[in-house]
This record gives sequence, C-alpha cells and structure tokens, in this order.
Amino acid sequence: MNTRHLLPSAKIAEFLATTDAPTPFVVIDVDLVEQRYRELVTAIPSANVYYAVKANPGLPLLERLAALGSAFDVASPAEIDRCLTVGADPALISYGNTIKKRRDIEYAVSCGVSRFTIDAQPELDKLIDVAPAASVCVRLRHECGGADWPLSRKFGCDAPDVERLLVAASEAGMQSGVSFHVGSQQRDLGAWDETLEVVAHIVGRARDRGAMPSFLNLGGGFPGTYLEDAPPIHAYGGAVRDALALWFPEGLDEIMIEPGRYLAADAGVLRSEVVLVSRRSPEDDVRWVYLDCGKFHGLAETMDEAIRYRLRTPHDGTPTGQVALAGPTCDSADVLYEKTAYELPLALAEGDMVDILSAGAYTTTYSSVGFNGFPPLDEHFV
Ligand SMILES: *Cc1c(COP(=O)(O)O)cnc(C)c1O
Repeated sequence: MNTRHLLPSAKIAEFLATTDAPTPFVVIDVDLVEQRYRELVTAIPSANVYYAVKANPGLPLLERLAALGSAFDVASPAEIDRCLTVGADPALISYGNTIKKRRDIEYAVSCGVSRFTIDAQPELDKLIDVAPAASVCVRLRHECGGADWPLSRKFGCDAPDVERLLVAASEAGMQSGVSFHVGSQQRDLGAWDETLEVVAHIVGRARDRGAMPSFLNLGGGFPGTYLEDAPPIHAYGGAVRDALALWFPEGLDEIMIEPGRYLAADAGVLRSEVVLVSRRSPEDDVRWVYLDCGKFHGLAETMDEAIRYRLRTPHDGTPTGQVALAGPTCDSADVLYEKTAYELPLALAEGDMVDILSAGAYTTTYSSVGFNGFPPLDEHFV
C-alpha cells in the first residue's frame, strides 16, 4: 500500500459530505483507532499497549480502547478521570508524567493507580512518601535522531542516574523498570535497538548492585501518515522484536509500549475553510492561503514546520502553484507552512474546504480556549 495516498475512511467521507457543522473541526473514526490498535498488537505481540491519552483524550476513543483491553498512559488527574469514566481498570493506568504534584500522586493512589514514572531523586522521594507501594519507572534520556517531533529534551536522566534511581527504588522495596521515548514520529527503525543497548547495560549494572528491574517501557514513536513516508508498522514491529531478542534474550515480566500518534493520527481529519487567498505583492509567485484553523486551533505541531500534514482540497488534480499557509488569528506566529514547499490548486478560493489529513493526534487539546475570540477546535466522533 502506498500510504502517502491513504484516504479517510468511508465513514469520515460520508460525515464530511453531509455535515453542515461549523469549521474548523476534527472528525475521528473510532473504528480506525481499533484497526490501528489491532495492527500494533499483531506487530509487537509481546508488548502491552498503554495508549498515550494526551494524543487524543476523546471519550469515544478511550471507551473503544478500554473495551479492547488497552492500558493507558496518563499525565494528570484529569486524564485518570477520563480513563476511569470509560471503565478502565486503574491497575492498567500508568502515570507517565515525570513531573507530578504531590497531591496529584495522592489522588492517583486513591484511584488505584500504582505505576509512576520519574527521572529525578526528589520525585522518587515524593513517591516513597506518598506512594510507597508504587511501581517505579525510571526514564532514560537518550537522544535519537530520526524523529520529526523529538521528546528527549525535557525528560529523562542520564544512564548513571537511571542506575542510581533503580537501586534507590529497589532499596525502598519498590518494583522498578526503565522507560524511554525514541522521539515522536520516529522514522529511523534503528532507534529502538540503539536505545535498548544502552538500557541493557544499565539494567545489567543495576542488577549487579542488587536491584531487580522487572519491566521495560519502550514509549511511543510509531508513525502517523504525513507528507514524508514512514516505514509500515510491521517493519517497526520487526525492529522492536529483534532489538528485544538481542538485548533482553532472557525477557522481563512486562514490556510496555505507549503509542499515541499511531493510534489516533490517521483516524482523524481536520476540516478547515479558506478565509482568504492573497498575494503579498503583485509580482509574488507565492499565494498566501489563510485557513480558519491555525497554530492556536490545534495545529501546534506545525511549530518549526515539524509535522507536515497532507492536505486535500475540492480542486485536487487541477494545476497547482506554491503557497504559504497560515491561520486566521492576529498573531504573526500563526503561520503553518512558509518554508515547506506546499503546492495547492490555483483554483482554490475563499469558502473552499481544506481537509488536513491524519490530524487525529495532538490537535483537539492543543487548541486555545478562545484566542482572538475564535472558539476552540470542535470534535466529532463517527
Ligand atoms: C507523548 C508520549 C507518548 C506518545 O508518543 P507517540 O510518539 O505519540 O506515540 C508516549 N509516552 C510518553 C511518556 C509520552 O510523553
């Protein structure tokens, strides 16, 4: 399959053809989320899926995943509540944010959540205080290339600190494991092998010092379908399975993965409307296309033009010309693409609908609450 031409599902197409809902909005096909979940479980059968709720916390989506037996990776009490609302088992909720208020940890414990990620001794101290029976996941910082949306800068600690924290957790009588994230939209399949080699050495040294790490959390990084091709999911599965077999031949009690983007991105389409097409000067070849959806309406991942969405217009197949794309607000940062060479039909005009494909992840909750008086991005589930 040439994934570059992956189109929305029949259900989404029907919704878009018949709706008069005001734009901008995202429409999510929950069946596609289920399909992606099943594909991922098939690709990496040894891993338990913890859906990264932040990618899209829509209740119908969470409900479907809970029904499929998925576990959840959360970052806050509100995300815990959403998972519990759809019937998730608190034993299958992992609190993956390394930065937690003490009272939020207490709240999580009161809900029955027992696994927490840390990357610093003071955060471990909080857990020892208020969640001494917790299972502790220590996050490694490991810079991988190849990711369109890197996640390594803010989180994680270096290998010697991971080892120290594993030993400290173990001395406190807590279960422990190691986590990492190879970067979101990771298109280099070698990233897992490279990182698992580092993790294997850490685990070996921690074991020598008496710790018994019992689980591994391989994070997310599995791709959505954007302009640049990414390998198919079975290739990711092969890379992860091979790396695990090489570095952890003896296995561990649990292997976790935390997909967000892979499960949600391709399940959604963001529909926007063209507000204005203009040229900044008469001799300028580049048209500026202003949509009613921009950086402040959920398209935050266009920051530095990092995530390059595929676009669909009613005039596809007709002659095109270069465009810059921007949102509707009065902030000059509200530009989507200026450096990336996007071409759109010359016939594109005010009032046309522009569909932003594979926009089901990292959009709805990235929307501002009302900057410039524009309402937040709406969402529909089919
Ligand atoms: C955001 C996040 C994920 C999801 O990453 P994707 O690349 O979207 O799959 C997984 N784990 C943690 C800890 C995260 O912060």
